[in-house]
Amino acid sequence: MKAYERMLKYVEFDTASDETTGTWPSTKKQLKLAEYLVDELRSLGVENAEMDGSGYVYGTLPANTDKADVPAIGLIAHMDVVGDLGADRIKPQIIKNYGGEVIHLNGIDLDPATDKFLKNRIGHDLITTDGTTLLGGDDKAGIAEIMTALEYMKEHPEFRHGTVQIGFTPDEEIGLSPERFDVEKFGADFGYTLDGENMGGIEYQNFNAVSAKVHIKGLDIHPGSAKDTMINAIEVAREFDEMIPQNERPVDTEGFEGFYHVMEISGIVSECEMSIILRDHDWSKIEEKQEVIKKITAALNEKYGEGTVTTDLRLQYKNMEEMIKPHMHVIDNARKAIRDAGAEPETLPIRGGTDGATLSFRGLPCPNLGTGSFNHHSVSEYADIQDMDTAVQIALNILKEYEENPLR
Ligand SMILES: [Zn+2]
Repeated sequence: MKAYERMLKYVEFDTASDETTGTWPSTKKQLKLAEYLVDELRSLGVENAEMDGSGYVYGTLPANTDKADVPAIGLIAHMDVVGDLGADRIKPQIIKNYGGEVIHLNGIDLDPATDKFLKNRIGHDLITTDGTTLLGGDDKAGIAEIMTALEYMKEHPEFRHGTVQIGFTPDEEIGLSPERFDVEKFGADFGYTLDGENMGGIEYQNFNAVSAKVHIKGLDIHPGSAKDTMINAIEVAREFDEMIPQNERPVDTEGFEGFYHVMEISGIVSECEMSIILRDHDWSKIEEKQEVIKKITAALNEKYGEGTVTTDLRLQYKNMEEMIKPHMHVIDNARKAIRDAGAEPETLPIRGGTDGATLSFRGLPCPNLGTGSFNHHSVSEYADIQDMDTAVQIALNILKEYEENPLR
């Protein structure tokens, strides 16, 4: 079976997660797909496949190599999709041999002039939605590719590989999937999430993330008699915002450029709260950004009196690169696997956090690979059937590389 055929089956399951429920997994409907995947894993020779009490699916394909020191490799994808985009009524359609034209769907157009990936899909077969829902290629393309790689290994016992650990997680889209991921039980030495977009993409550099909560204490006095006395916390918040470097906001930055993002200012004359996030791939630069925030705080306290502004800086997450760097074979093998599959490796900065980052800091170095599905979290989502096939080949090539060169 082709990877895209599996994906078309999986998108029939509504697996939208929901951050408001507070349950594990966040929605019961994700378990339906989990159960289906356990059965499928068993049919593909993953005998110990099971779902745990939190809805995570795990399974082991035992090594068939007699070489020692072949590391156990984890392949990970998530089962849920974002809510509010019609996951219960996805109507996929296949466009054969895409010719480069604008694709008209209900209410939206996919236009190669504005979609930087679409113009490179000419001659490929694409799967789009009807334009009113997401597709769910994020991340059912990843699951389909892992399953199809397993099927290949079942049908080709001569293909030598080390232990392969499979993990399908719920609730990735609400940021909770690493929380109950059992890294120890999973037992992989190194892992890959198949959860990226462009096939050939390798992501292992995410932001360092710091949040700054700023509290401003004003001095409220009757405005009629406020001359030289009132401290309007709203005005101080505005001053704070103006002192943050102006050309380092999200709207000014891309690639490996970090930013300051003022997310919220709320308050009244006597009291104001600001919520700011600092992001940078470079640790020294995230430290500089924190210094800037501290200096602004000090300068305003100097001006308005000690205790007017208090700032609480908190580390939210770190760039996983430092956990990957001691094991660069994880990246080098992925690059080679991509080239051997006839594609071009492209290292992409992650302008946010990622599950792989959390897993990496918990002891499972885990970059993210492209799946050949695009425009995640939108009604413009589509998948590329041939690129999905290549993604399967890339996963197999990685396993092959570790089997052929176990000690690096
Ligand atoms: Zn995803």
